[in-house]
Amino acid sequence: MDTTNQSGWNAEVLVVGAGAAGLWAAARAARGGRDVLLLEKTPRTGTKVLASGGTRCNLTTTLSVAEAAKLFRSKGERFLRPAFQNLPPQAVRERFAEWGVPTEVAPLEKIFPTSGRAKDVRDAMEREARSAGVRIELDAAVTGLRRDGDVWSVQVEGDRVAHAPHVLLCPGGQSVPKSGTTGDGYGWLQSLDLPLIPPVPALVPLTTEASWVHALTGIAWADGELRLIDPRGKAITRRRRPVLFTHTGLSGPAAMDLSVHVAQAPDAAWFVRLDLFPDEERDTLRDLLIELGNLPGKPYLGRLLPAAIPKRLLAAICAQAGFDEVPRPSEIGRAARHELVEALKGLEVPIHGTRGWDLAEVTAGGLDLRRVDPRTMRVNGIEGLQVFGELLDLDGPIGGLNFQAAFACAELAGGFLAND
Ligand SMILES: Cc1cc2nc3c(=O)[nH]c(=O)nc-3n(C[C@H](O)[C@H](O)[C@H](O)COP(=O)(O)OP(=O)(O)OC[C@H]3O[C@@H](n4cnc5c(N)ncnc54)[C@H](O)[C@@H]3O)c2cc1C
Repeated sequence: MDTTNQSGWNAEVLVVGAGAAGLWAAARAARGGRDVLLLEKTPRTGTKVLASGGTRCNLTTTLSVAEAAKLFRSKGERFLRPAFQNLPPQAVRERFAEWGVPTEVAPLEKIFPTSGRAKDVRDAMEREARSAGVRIELDAAVTGLRRDGDVWSVQVEGDRVAHAPHVLLCPGGQSVPKSGTTGDGYGWLQSLDLPLIPPVPALVPLTTEASWVHALTGIAWADGELRLIDPRGKAITRRRRPVLFTHTGLSGPAAMDLSVHVAQAPDAAWFVRLDLFPDEERDTLRDLLIELGNLPGKPYLGRLLPAAIPKRLLAAICAQAGFDEVPRPSEIGRAARHELVEALKGLEVPIHGTRGWDLAEVTAGGLDLRRVDPRTMRVNGIEGLQVFGELLDLDGPIGGLNFQAAFACAELAGGFLAND
């Protein structure tokens, strides 16, 4: 990298990527008295914040520190505990309230701005950064970095270069590449000989080639439990959240939350089992079916179960139980009743993959957490370098957890540099 005759900047702290993590860390370091320059590739800050939560921005969770950290699987849990203890979900809410963005609780442990506008969240973060003194350079795509003595040289498109003793890398991952996150950080990590866990799309809809599933497009089931079954028939994880049938497979939080495992082994023979009535024991459903069979007249099965099942879905369940059509309760024999209960408690859908990067809400994989100090986000063995946000090998489920992780890690990273 030849940096002679290049225009550019000097700063004490260079932050790469003005997303959720970068805006937060830059503001924190600048509030702590540092001269901070924030470089952003696209013409605006916080693109994913703006798009998040269906443009409402589910910015954190009602869960406790321990409950929230646990959702990042064991490696992530250990790593995140100090960050979440330092900035718990409630503290994120308080910070946004200080910045003029009051928040409110929504179902499924979510927290949204009371205004319902993600733009208010992004604007507040940018305002806080600018008022703390952060210089923000938009349309400044970083292309590489290297350390010369005590100083980092960060190469920026347009033959520009930025120098600083401290570099904070938070260019995000690779999900929704059209938003600006095209996985640029992975090359930089490799150029620094840092270990990379292969990135895969996560929080993404699952696909199936089973046409009976495609025929259920538009049907949502609000309170089921989805289990992911590996090729040996072992349930490796489960999630109780809404699920949505689509023209390509399964979507909704339940399906998306399981998707990381599928993405990590896309050629495996996965399937999921949907328990439509996770609160009901098999015996209870069996007794109910017997009771229904004894009712006078010809009651319609779908209306009499614990929650009304849409006709197309009930037909699919009955087909899986071996019926040609939806039976009247009185027509169901003992063996068939068993099959029907099994299908209600575990409708089986083969899974053939995910919808990939374009529809993934986050990236799983990234910088190996073992190389990062979870109390400061410093990269072990490399002076003046901190990495956090989605570039780390960290991903949580839907529900404000990923922003919580980005903010909490950024608070530690910026706080470590602060002179306060
Ligand atoms: C559609 C969608 C909805 C989501 N909804 C939610 C939600 O409601 N709640 C939640 O918790 N999470 C949600 N997420 C996930 C959340 O957006 C991410 O986890 C979070 O934004 C990660 O923060 P980050 O700062 O690491 O990365 P990002 O927010 O992606 O920011 C990275 C920034 O770096 C910039 N950049 C990239 N390369 C370069 C480069 N070469 N030079 C300079 N800058 C660069 C990018 O343009 C971007 O601005 C959603 C994601 C998507 C895609």
